[in-house]
Amino acid sequence: MSHMLTCSECGKAFPDSTLAWRCDCGGFFDLEIDACFDKTALITRKPHLWRYRELLPLHSDENRVSFGEGFTPLLRVDFSGKKVWCKVEYLFPTGSFKDRGATVLISKLKELGIKAIIEDSSGNAGCSIAAYAAHADIRCSIYVPERTGAAKSAQIEIHGAQLVKVSGDRSETAEAAILASKDIYYASHVWNPYFLQGTKTFAFEIWEQMDFRPPDSVIIPVGNGTLLLGAYKGFDELKKLGLSDRIPRLIAVQSERCAPLMHEEQGFSKSTKQKSIAEGIAVTNPVRKKHIIDAITQTEGTIITVSDDEIHQAFRIMGRKGFYIEMTAAAGIAGVIKYCQTSPSSEKIVTALTGHGLKSDFSTHCLTHPILPVYP
Ligand SMILES: *Cc1c(COP(=O)(O)O)cnc(C)c1O
Ligand SMILES: [Zn+2]
Repeated sequence: MSHMLTCSECGKAFPDSTLAWRCDCGGFFDLEIDACFDKTALITRKPHLWRYRELLPLHSDENRVSFGEGFTPLLRVDFSGKKVWCKVEYLFPTGSFKDRGATVLISKLKELGIKAIIEDSSGNAGCSIAAYAAHADIRCSIYVPERTGAAKSAQIEIHGAQLVKVSGDRSETAEAAILASKDIYYASHVWNPYFLQGTKTFAFEIWEQMDFRPPDSVIIPVGNGTLLLGAYKGFDELKKLGLSDRIPRLIAVQSERCAPLMHEEQGFSKSTKQKSIAEGIAVTNPVRKKHIIDAITQTEGTIITVSDDEIHQAFRIMGRKGFYIEMTAAAGIAGVIKYCQTSPSSEKIVTALTGHGLKSDFSTHCLTHPILPVYP
């Protein structure tokens, strides 16, 4: 079984052995898997994300690079009387959902015989790629903006990756990485279609954990959209396979200090950004922006923006419930709290706790934000 990558802009097809990271026309690659899946096979399989093996684009299991990741808990949490199902994505090996994408991407690169890679990231994707590259014995350079926190920088370096701090913002970091990737494979979690093949397992797990019935809505913090697009892809595949009858409403949460999706919907051509505590979703111009908006529109979803104060409040509320998440993850919860104020109580809502609080340089959050009262 061979998979073809297709250009999202001009439709040109590329073999899956291509070393290009985008089409000659500048478009990014998409990848559709055409496979069958028998859900009764799941009964005997181990609780990790490779249990959906047939739907993942790897030719040989020998190339699998895995820490046994995935199948994260789905817990019911009460928000002022409304029940929301929280998928505890911070329990991944490196502390964020990015490991979903990294295990599939790095496995594929191992299969292709790639020995060295470059990636750029605002933090968590770099941590994931660095860990999986170490496990696969692939040499790795991670480009990060110079203000990237000490905890994430240390995490990247401990895995033996070369950490390159770029003076400038997130997009200048990407430019520097692309420039350096002339002779080295560019393993970008933003551009590479294999990353989304991994994040789609988020949808498979929710479907399985909810008795093979997708929820009404899924609320996700969005920067580059790798989790939202993965969710869309996963639910869409299940529907096409006849394993479920619908795709949930996809609801994106953005920081009001950096909300390019909202601006696009309102017809602004360019989006600006102010510094936000939700640094992991502060992406001014997401590569797959059009696809993200399409996924939201097609599922009759919506976009919610939240302020830094609301994010900080959500962070504390989750702490009181025993969940220690990072600020970017708290942005998603701030969106959940807002959404629940008007949603019908019968609505089945799922959200993701995307990143671990232990990754934060917490002292900075404490110093820059006064302790706010926690509302009930
Ligand atoms: C990466 C990340 C996000 C946002 O994911 P995108 O793929 O950029 O949309 C949200 N929360 C955490 C903790 C992350 O690391
Ligand atoms: Zn093209």
